[in-house]
Amino acid sequence: MSQSPRLLIPGPTEVDSEVARAALRPMIGHRGPEISELLRDVLPRVQSALNTAQSVYPLACSATGAMEAAVRNAAPGPFLHLVCGAFSARWSEIRAACCLPGDDIVVEWGEPILPAQLAEALSRKKYGAVTLVHNETSTGVMNPLPELAAVVRQHDDLLLLVDTVSSMAAVELRLDAWGVDLCLAGTQKAWAMPPGLTLCAVSERALKQSARAAGKGLYLDWQCHEASLRKWQTPSTPPISLLFQLRAALDRAEREGWGARYARHAAMQQLCMGWAERRNFRPFAREGYRSMSVSALEAPGVDLSALLSRLRGRGIIMGAGYGKTKPTVFRVGHMGEWTVDGLEAVLTACDEELGGMAVG
Ligand code: PLP
Repeated sequence: MSQSPRLLIPGPTEVDSEVARAALRPMIGHRGPEISELLRDVLPRVQSALNTAQSVYPLACSATGAMEAAVRNAAPGPFLHLVCGAFSARWSEIRAACCLPGDDIVVEWGEPILPAQLAEALSRKKYGAVTLVHNETSTGVMNPLPELAAVVRQHDDLLLLVDTVSSMAAVELRLDAWGVDLCLAGTQKAWAMPPGLTLCAVSERALKQSARAAGKGLYLDWQCHEASLRKWQTPSTPPISLLFQLRAALDRAEREGWGARYARHAAMQQLCMGWAERRNFRPFAREGYRSMSVSALEAPGVDLSALLSRLRGRGIIMGAGYGKTKPTVFRVGHMGEWTVDGLEAVLTACDEELGGMAVG
């Protein structure tokens, strides 16, 4: 175990020293040729990782800012929100805060949204945009994005706005083949970078809608970002050090190979699930819809706050359950730089602590 705490919360996650050091590079101007060279280097590599020819905007905000921008740029809706946890509910909260119309499909926490539920809602009313969280970090559910996208694509001009905050860089995304109109992720999750930069891919169809949207503000207006991107610039000063770090993160991912990276995430999920089964812990998410980057586990009879604080005492920071699940669920964030060996060592430490605890 290293001296610094080991972060296994579902983001922010650990940052490798190669990526951390990249932030120390001497500063460059935000209007000179150097920034254009940097953007011209990193953004096509992100497009390639996401299997898309769509524009990718590097937004200087956390994911919530990019979600709000997406709602404002896709206005007026109405929006249909697929809600299966706290972050998918956030889409709906943002839309309400923007005074735009919308409805929710709500399922129990731990359940995915199924294509038939979406198809049924779309047959009842005409919507302008559907929002989804691919990987619901609060419950450990991974929704069936390709199948849900196929339902949306049966409707002309219906936008599909997807939060891939905790799945991008952990599982393969095929944005163009699936027909995703907006895909966003903050860099502190499976990209294994510090927070502060959100990568946001926007389709032609979504850009057209944004040109018609009223009241979308200026800072995160996609039209402004698109116009700047055509000159390999950004409308306002970008988070330059984070872009240096993105380049380092891309170097690392490409050295490993994207396929190998996704396989490593799947192997960590398998390891975690096998461990849970041996301990009689129950995965919170329904089988077949479990996340590759965060495992949410119910541990009957275990005092979870005591377990998490014992682990913290050993320098291991694991995630508590989110919101209403806090007393009964804990979450293991296995993403980014984490490896099967590293995770195995942590689960062994967890076993040792559980061995020292009275079972309730
Ligand atoms: N969406 C998902 C799926 C998340 O997991 C999170 C944060 O954990 C967010 C959105 C919000 O991200 P931020 O707090 O960086 O704005």
